[in-house]
Amino acid sequence: MISGNTPILQHSNTPSLLFDYHTHPQGHRIQRYGQALLQPWIDSARAKGIIDIAFTDHDRYHAGVDFDELDRLREKNPDMKIRAGIELDNDPRTSAAGRKWIEQNWDRLDFVLGSVHYLTRADQMFDSVPDGAQQFTGRDIDDVYSDYFRRVREVAASGLADCLAHLDLVKIHGHRPRPPVSELIEETLELIRTRKLAIELSTAGWRKPVNELYPSDEIITLAIEKKIPFTIASDAHSWAQLGENYERLAQKMSAFGIREVSVYEKHRRIAQRL
Ligand SMILES: [Zn+2]
Ligand SMILES: [Zn+2]
Repeated sequence: MISGNTPILQHSNTPSLLFDYHTHPQGHRIQRYGQALLQPWIDSARAKGIIDIAFTDHDRYHAGVDFDELDRLREKNPDMKIRAGIELDNDPRTSAAGRKWIEQNWDRLDFVLGSVHYLTRADQMFDSVPDGAQQFTGRDIDDVYSDYFRRVREVAASGLADCLAHLDLVKIHGHRPRPPVSELIEETLELIRTRKLAIELSTAGWRKPVNELYPSDEIITLAIEKKIPFTIASDAHSWAQLGENYERLAQKMSAFGIREVSVYEKHRRIAQRL
């Protein structure tokens, strides 16, 4: 495949990563989709050599998503694949409405990410930095991990997600369970495999306190064994973050021998050779 820009630090043995499947044009508030909001994301993607992008705003901001504006954006940018997506999470206050909206708009959506951002506290995403770390204070970290992955399995079993985002987000503040956690991961990945879902390789973890790719090497290894497909993503909350750390991700994928990533059109998975 040809991309207009050769990424800096590209090595001959590392693949070019041309897709970004986790992005937040609205950021953290409702901002109605329009050309002024979205075109800068396309310009930035193009400048970084990305040719296929999924907009996946949080489901609590679904009121801002406008499918007609996405169609207009596609007409203006025929060189770019632009996917209508959403990130469905387990917010105890908003996710029921989010699920309903996804069901109503299923045929206009290309891609749904499933996420867990809430543990036992209903009023705060545990992945808020740094405040969310308080939710781990005084708790048995093994219990937190098993509670987190139970919630991940619930999202995976919802039937509404095509792919699971940042699968081991629970590590964000650097809390580690006592080994082994393999059983927890095995059970979760096995469900993901049987539901035919993908998981994402997210560079966002490299800009968080844990400073590690989502998911861990252990999870990637087991996912490869189970032939679970991968998407690639930055979880950008501004257009400047698109494709962030993709050179580093490409090197990592190369080390794992990952030569295929997935893109989605109307929930149909399309495997792309790198
Ligand atoms: Zn998320
Ligand atoms: Zn996100």
